[in-house]
Amino acid sequence: MKKTALFPGSFDPITKGHESIVLRALPLFEKIIIAIGINEQKQSFFPLEKRREWIQKVFASYPHIEVITYEGLTVDLCQKLAVKYILRGLRTSADFEFERSIGQMNKLMFPDVETVFFLTTPEHSALNSYIVRDIIKHGGDASPFTPDAIDVSEGMAK
Ligand code: ADP
Repeated sequence: MKKTALFPGSFDPITKGHESIVLRALPLFEKIIIAIGINEQKQSFFPLEKRREWIQKVFASYPHIEVITYEGLTVDLCQKLAVKYILRGLRTSADFEFERSIGQMNKLMFPDVETVFFLTTPEHSALNSYIVRDIIKHGGDASPFTPDAIDVSEGMAK
């Protein structure tokens, strides 16, 4: 069976930080599944279809990167897909605390799963999707922070 990692997130929208984590993880895994979580309690800024389309475009030249959407617990998805590795990025100590509790809870629920963390590269550590959304909302230029292959300003939720 292929060594596969699942990279879950809201990707609202995908940023250069997410792109960098996936590209850096590629040498470790034969396949990476980018899983866009659907949270009914939380209204996303960009429509799901746009978020999926952008991620597909960013990684179009990588046949071993797949993009899916899911609802429910990440560990349930891992079990369903028989994936044993969850990929996450760490920017700050706040990320660490947040990720630690999720990672440990996931381990309690599904002991076979391992969370693999990548420290963000220094140039991406201040970057998050919230800031990108805020720039776009206020008519700024977010293109330095989003992958070169896409233009997220065309996806403004109307
Ligand atoms: P955000 O936290 O920006 O809303 P997501 O919920 O989509 O992003 O997060 C998915 C994963 O990507 C998380 O593990 C998060 O820590 C990681 N991530 C988000 N932005 C960056 C970044 N700039 N550098 C490294 N990892 C990041």
